[in-house]
Amino acid sequence: MAIRDLQILLIEDDTHIRSILTTALAAAGAIVIPATRGKDAHRIASESKLDLVLLDLGLPDMDGVALIPLLQQACDAPIIVISARFQEQQKVAALDAGADDYLTKPFGIDELQARMRSTLRRSGRATPRPSRSRYEHQGLSVDFDTHQVCLAGKPVHLTPLEFRLLAVLVRQAGKVITHRQLLREVWGPHHEEDDHYLRIYMRQLRSKLEANPAQPRFLLNEPGVGYRLFVE
Ligand code: CA
Repeated sequence: MAIRDLQILLIEDDTHIRSILTTALAAAGAIVIPATRGKDAHRIASESKLDLVLLDLGLPDMDGVALIPLLQQACDAPIIVISARFQEQQKVAALDAGADDYLTKPFGIDELQARMRSTLRRSGRATPRPSRSRYEHQGLSVDFDTHQVCLAGKPVHLTPLEFRLLAVLVRQAGKVITHRQLLREVWGPHHEEDDHYLRIYMRQLRSKLEANPAQPRFLLNEPGVGYRLFVE
């Protein structure tokens, strides 16, 4: 999906940033609907057909993190957070609340557009293909039915837990999955704090899937936040 076809809700109370982004995205052909307050944004999300939401976190009437679940109830467009909050816990909070990606201000318009494209590719891939039982990309193939994993055509033997960890990352390839989300999905809700499980199993997975585990090609670390499966 090209940016020129998009209807974008831009939630940003800073007049200067709002105007720069609106101009740049409109120049790329998108239709930008601006909102400065959370309440208005929620109403627009309920009434409009949106393809993407760009969300600042410091809003005059509410915290953007609290707005994320409300937006998700109102529409199914992916949400990219654009915020000056740069601390890891703040990124984790937004991603855990359901944001699809996070961009720290200041950022360039090219980077924003690249993140927009990758978020849209991902959300397009995740929804309309129900029988996606196989992932194949960059020499890595994962069969969700047989649990077989191959690297450059060669089978890789994974333990059931290693497979589950890889499967969570592969199903949302490209997206940062927080430590907490990974622990919950792989080990269960009582293990959300057990970061050491993740470290151990990620090391094992890298040793099986990466040519050089110290410089991983697939299983990327987002320091303090989580992991993502790299897709170019
Ligand atoms: Ca703000």
